[in-house]
Amino acid sequence: MKRRAGGSLQSLRRTNEDQILDLLICQGPLHRAELARRAGVSRTTASTIVSELIARDLVTETDEEPRDDVDGRAGNRLLINPRAAVVAGMNHTFDGVWVHLSDLASGEVASSGIALEPDAGPADRIEAGISVLQRLLDASELDTGRVLGVGVGVPGPVHRDTGVVGVSLPGQPWSHVNAAEEFERALGLPVMVENNTRLEGVAEARWGAGRGVANLLYFGLSSGIGSALVLDGRLYRGAVGAAGELGHVSVNIDGPACPCGNRGCLVLHAGLPAVLAALRSVFGTGAELDGMLSRTAAGDPAGEKVLARVGTVVGQVLAGLCNLLNPERVVVGGELSRAGEALLTPMRSAVRESALPLVRDVALVPAELGHGARIGALGGAALVLSETPDLAAALNHLSAKGITA
Ligand SMILES: [Zn+2]
Repeated sequence: MKRRAGGSLQSLRRTNEDQILDLLICQGPLHRAELARRAGVSRTTASTIVSELIARDLVTETDEEPRDDVDGRAGNRLLINPRAAVVAGMNHTFDGVWVHLSDLASGEVASSGIALEPDAGPADRIEAGISVLQRLLDASELDTGRVLGVGVGVPGPVHRDTGVVGVSLPGQPWSHVNAAEEFERALGLPVMVENNTRLEGVAEARWGAGRGVANLLYFGLSSGIGSALVLDGRLYRGAVGAAGELGHVSVNIDGPACPCGNRGCLVLHAGLPAVLAALRSVFGTGAELDGMLSRTAAGDPAGEKVLARVGTVVGQVLAGLCNLLNPERVVVGGELSRAGEALLTPMRSAVRESALPLVRDVALVPAELGHGARIGALGGAALVLSETPDLAAALNHLSAKGITA
């Protein structure tokens, strides 16, 4: 179907195709005449391009009743074929990897994960991630050539320019690894690498409790404590990708020593190991987290007291962040968010008491997507959808083979 034409004609055609794909991604479904009008081309040009894009499975027609277009002709509306391409998220945690495939309409295509030994090195982890990705593509009858990009999550801060994973704590498998380069080489696909917790925040911002919010603060309360700052609709990374490393903010300068070298870090008071220890001092050494949280949610005063202390110390740090950043909404996720209102209510009280009056009425809500490695993988896919510089051009450059939708 390729037209033999001079370079400038070919490039004009490619530009028109990119523009039409972009209009359908951002504003579709649209009728042909409306599409032509918005693209600033003739109806004939638009129709020719659309026919080729339909033949390449990049564009499809709605199956609704044909309606009159702006030029009075009846016809179906056009939309991007959601399965024309997929984006992938691959989230590497300490004990496993989860891969999520999403179509261009944000629908889940496939999602799955496997456990890994905690002492596995980066090469084994990359290989495991690729095997899960390949299995999901095979099961969905998709060719690798249909993957627009992969958003990879790793523990630790990721340098925004170099892709090298920094050191926040000793012993992390990815420290000093150029993760962006390694994944790109192994996958042969465009890759974006970001910190796990930041990706959870991106997932909540696009698909969860932060939908439609331009200035969002996500708190991930698990073994570590991290956050994601979505400012003016974009993930904020800071100078070296470390923006959001809240776990090592000191809340007590005379407190116990932390492996990071600081004293009295927030994570020593509100990280999962500390909270488990505090709850077990009340419920008994063998008690499991779920059981203790259920008893607390049912009104156990001793459990409530432990979580009130945790919520208050996290809330005080949050109050400082509200003064600094003035977010519209704060989303609380991670394993500890299962504590629900027993944790959120004291957090809200601490913000109301400690933050400036102008910023203290911020909405503080639980995460909607749940917790675990899958959420970071959702965020990886969301990152590709929101940060691929020109999604339409990337889609247009994909090989035309491999789709079976
Ligand atoms: Zn620390």
